[in-house]
Amino acid sequence: MKKHNFSAGPSILPALVMEKAAAAVQELDGIGLSLIEISHRSKEFVAIMDKAQDLALELTGLKGKGYQALFLQGGASMQFLMAAANLMQNKAGYINTGAWSDKAIKEAKRYGEVIEIASSKEANFNYIPKGQDIPTDLDYLHITTNNTIFGTQFHDLPQTNVPLIADMSSDIFSREFDYSAFDLFYAGAQKNMGPAGTTLVIVKDSLLEKMNKDVPSMLSYATHADKGSMFNTPPVFAVYTSMLTLEWLKEKGGISAIQEHNITKAKLIYDEIDRNTAFEGFAAKEDRSYMNATFNLAEGVDGSAFDEMWNAANISGLKGHRSVGGYRASIYNALPLESAQQLVDVMQQFEKTL
Ligand SMILES: *Cc1c(COP(=O)(O)O)cnc(C)c1O
Repeated sequence: MKKHNFSAGPSILPALVMEKAAAAVQELDGIGLSLIEISHRSKEFVAIMDKAQDLALELTGLKGKGYQALFLQGGASMQFLMAAANLMQNKAGYINTGAWSDKAIKEAKRYGEVIEIASSKEANFNYIPKGQDIPTDLDYLHITTNNTIFGTQFHDLPQTNVPLIADMSSDIFSREFDYSAFDLFYAGAQKNMGPAGTTLVIVKDSLLEKMNKDVPSMLSYATHADKGSMFNTPPVFAVYTSMLTLEWLKEKGGISAIQEHNITKAKLIYDEIDRNTAFEGFAAKEDRSYMNATFNLAEGVDGSAFDEMWNAANISGLKGHRSVGGYRASIYNALPLESAQQLVDVMQQFEKTL
């Protein structure tokens, strides 16, 4: 029996996507060949890449608005340095909301001066710093829209006139946003879009034109944009499966429909965290993530029985990240409401044993 999958990443994908991806590994659309044994320059795969790029722009409302979608490799971690290599001339600003921002900052320092505009480090990153004045002489401002580890999420974007760059690895396609507020955003596929192996980058044409020229080919956004994400062999399986997920999302009604579903799931879980005397939420309420709900045991509560109970209830991937402890329910787009309900039921059963 399939488990209730709360894994933070790689994470749950829609059952229909799994089915279609598995079938395509056997044979792609009746062509007598597998998806993973044909040329990436074949008309079949070129159509897949085009469609994946097109859907990414359409779903974010950026189609025809001067943006390009790229499917690259190296994970979101590669973007930490690519963004800086292409955009940093003198200095850039970073809002530090925890581990992922920290790593982005570390790479950016190789290319110029990093101004840490704000940080919530003193509170173990349990909130999103807000309301800072952003200097106007930065090459760009970088944020992590959703911090997967700490369970915090920007609900309002910082106001700035400098190019806004975002790591959206764990909340892309999960909520309505003015995506045009960003000049470049990126996401490793493995949280909300597909299997590990590809990273979606959406970049504004006007920013591409201003990028540093002296960047190694593989690290240059301009190279990948010029070649339609086919400068070298793209990760064909990851791109295909991402395309299937984006198709699935479009059929479900797109981002506005999935956002409603995500709010319902998150509310169910957060309401229980707040009601249940055995648990307490980790992140500040106003900054809670709709994708990763982090919570700990209340003072003095022994969680060993809870661990046995959720395992027995066919729940997987609930253990919190080591820097937060406790639990983390990752409730990405593909997680069904029944899984959220199953978790809430077990939390209630556990409370009754105390
Ligand atoms: C998972 C994650 C990453 C790391 O992604 P990789 O593809 O493993 O490099 C970066 N940023 C955020 C917000 C993440 O959730």
